[in-house]
Amino acid sequence: DVLMEKILQRRSWRMQNLQRSWQESPEGSKMLDSRGSLPAYKEKARLLAAIARNQVIVISGETGCGKTTQLPQYVLESEIESGRGAFCNIVCTQPRRISAMTVAERVSAERGEKLGERGILLRRLLGDRNLNGVTHVFVDEIHERGMNEDFLLIVLKDLLTRRRDLRLILMSATLNAEMFSEYFCGAPTIHIPGFTYPVRAYFLEDILEKTGYKLTSFNQIDDYGQDKLWKTQRQLLPRKRKNQITTLVEDALRNSNFENYSGKARDSLTNWTPDCIGFNLIEAVLCHICRKEGPGAVLVFMTGWDDISCLRDQLKAHPLLGDPNRVLILPCHGSMATSEQKLIFEKPPANIRKIVLATNMAEASITINDIVFVVDCGKAKETTYDALNNTPCLLPSWISKASARQRRGRAGRVQPGECYHLYPRCVYDALDDYQLPELLRTPLNSICLQIKCLQLGSIADFLSASMQPPEPLAVQNAVEFLKMIGALDEKENLTNLGKYLSILPVDPKLGKMLIMGSVFRCVDPILTVVSGLSSRDPFLLPQDKKDLAGTAKSRFSAKDYSDHMALVRAYEGWKDADREGSAYEYCWRNFLSAQTLQAIHSLRKQFTFILKDAALLEADVNTINSLSHNQSLVRAIICCGLFPGISSVVHREKSLSFKTMDDGQILLYANSVNAKYQTIPYPWLVFGEKVKVNAVFIRDSTGVSDSMLILFGGALKKGEMAGHLQMLDGYFDFFMDPSLAECYWKIKEELNTLIQK
Ligand code: ADP
Ligand code: MG
Repeated sequence: DVLMEKILQRRSWRMQNLQRSWQESPEGSKMLDSRGSLPAYKEKARLLAAIARNQVIVISGETGCGKTTQLPQYVLESEIESGRGAFCNIVCTQPRRISAMTVAERVSAERGEKLGERGILLRRLLGDRNLNGVTHVFVDEIHERGMNEDFLLIVLKDLLTRRRDLRLILMSATLNAEMFSEYFCGAPTIHIPGFTYPVRAYFLEDILEKTGYKLTSFNQIDDYGQDKLWKTQRQLLPRKRKNQITTLVEDALRNSNFENYSGKARDSLTNWTPDCIGFNLIEAVLCHICRKEGPGAVLVFMTGWDDISCLRDQLKAHPLLGDPNRVLILPCHGSMATSEQKLIFEKPPANIRKIVLATNMAEASITINDIVFVVDCGKAKETTYDALNNTPCLLPSWISKASARQRRGRAGRVQPGECYHLYPRCVYDALDDYQLPELLRTPLNSICLQIKCLQLGSIADFLSASMQPPEPLAVQNAVEFLKMIGALDEKENLTNLGKYLSILPVDPKLGKMLIMGSVFRCVDPILTVVSGLSSRDPFLLPQDKKDLAGTAKSRFSAKDYSDHMALVRAYEGWKDADREGSAYEYCWRNFLSAQTLQAIHSLRKQFTFILKDAALLEADVNTINSLSHNQSLVRAIICCGLFPGISSVVHREKSLSFKTMDDGQILLYANSVNAKYQTIPYPWLVFGEKVKVNAVFIRDSTGVSDSMLILFGGALKKGEMAGHLQMLDGYFDFFMDPSLAECYWKIKEELNTLIQK
């Protein structure tokens, strides 16, 4: 210990020298100047004193005031200055990988240091439950109430009693600091006053007046052919309800009587996305800004990538907005290449108006400095979880008041700004104050596995200690699911399979598929399937070329009744084409998204690394793929991973329908290869996810046989099978030669032990 102390002391001195020489260098002192101009800087002494005196503090402040990039540095710098730099070990969390990366880049640039490696705090807790050596934990963006952050707070709250020396600093952009302070037994809160300029808010009624845009009829949605999302929603909306909303909106618009929207009416407006009134309104607002308003960049908040790319296409065709000499349109999305992202932060050339189309990512985690105008569509894509039907739903839903304010605030960073909310004021008044925490709107499968893996005791007890505990039914669903896939045993203990699944940073289902793929030596196709399931669909479906796109996709399916296999072929074709330098043409010809294929490609690499790291993959590339050509095996492994996502194929005269185990109806997405057949020679379809968008849909599916389901579906134990399997068991018991039936049970038992191992 004495030796260690000496080493650390020496290292601390070296850090002190390095810090001084950087701060005295021309670049370093320039950085120091710009950092000194941030609002957080004025509070530095107060913040450091509070951190020294309290184990937990909660800090709030306007986005851009310097919380994320500055506060951890203040702590580090003061430790370094007092000659204790090497004794301090600071961990900061970010909810998203992309923000973790940009923040790390920015902070290392500010410190003149090389960028280090990446790590995941929840992973680190696995190896060391006490976080030994860590002195400070900064949990950022807690106002988002992300699942990982909420989870981490439960763990840290408990850890703080054991590690009295550990400091916890919570950072939030909005003013719900009190809630967190309460959760941590009255921890002090500090607010950093920001320098934001006033932002004028316009609501729909003001916008119509300002732009002269005529919004007289709901029929305008027909102008809006490009939007896939809205189209599907509209088709699905029951006619009566649709008419009700139509009348309501039309009425209000005709009489400019927006009062009708308030209160309960908001619910009936759930389907009233800004798309209803058309991208045309957004276009009109953007035109107005470009023609009538002063200089400054525009930030448009949209619901998702589909919206963003559709709007971009529409704007490109516009005489003013599509003119690259006058307007620069930049989409902003998490999966974009870094070089593209850089442009968003840069100042555009003189006399060119920068318009950034973003999702709610631009609300708080990234800051674009020169924004003067914000256009807010009022919605964001949000996953919700229907515990009763055990179904995740993905729908654009109304944002909270806090989000709307946050969006507005983005316009006032450099000068007084303007915000155009594309909804009536009374809708704003009826918005929720805050968004529901993620823990209450997602399936809890992964989080329950984490709890077991970190040995945090009973799942239900642990989760009931969270700030806003999830419904007992949601917890029960997750536990049952984990038992069904064999990750937990009857007593809720982690099985061997469960242990492996918890170290793979993917959804347990996908983790199981990866493990089985490597055990059964067909890693390559399974890696592609898992990566595909973790990213967006690479098969594009342009509204005006649906048929061509469908035909292109079915070329990859070769009658094997599988979207997953189609993806494997498309990916392999892309790799071949890439080798020959014709990847671009290949994608264009086959309606594939090069961007998504690239994302799948890099995910595959990550998964390979993870499998190797967990010693689940042998080194020899040939061995691990010796059975990759075996189509039935690959299909069975897909079945193994996706179970219990399964539906029966019901043949009727000339049509097919699909039923879940509990007899619910399921529809296939139009782009699925299986949506085109009148008969399917498999009794079952397995699918990755069902999503409720008014009806329950499945995106990708693969046909599987009875035997695949029996041998590879779920925890293979007699008596604990889903109903359909029991039926099959009965069939075997009844019709088969007793010795064969015994053999069947034996195989199942053996396989079960094998899987558990
Ligand atoms: P907060 O966390 O309070 O929202 P940040 O610490 O993220 O604030 O950012 C503080 C300031 O640092 C921003 O206003 C911006 O001027 C600057 N900044 C942050 N990230 C970058 C970056 N990647 N490139 C350039 N400037 C940045
Ligand atoms: Mg921040």
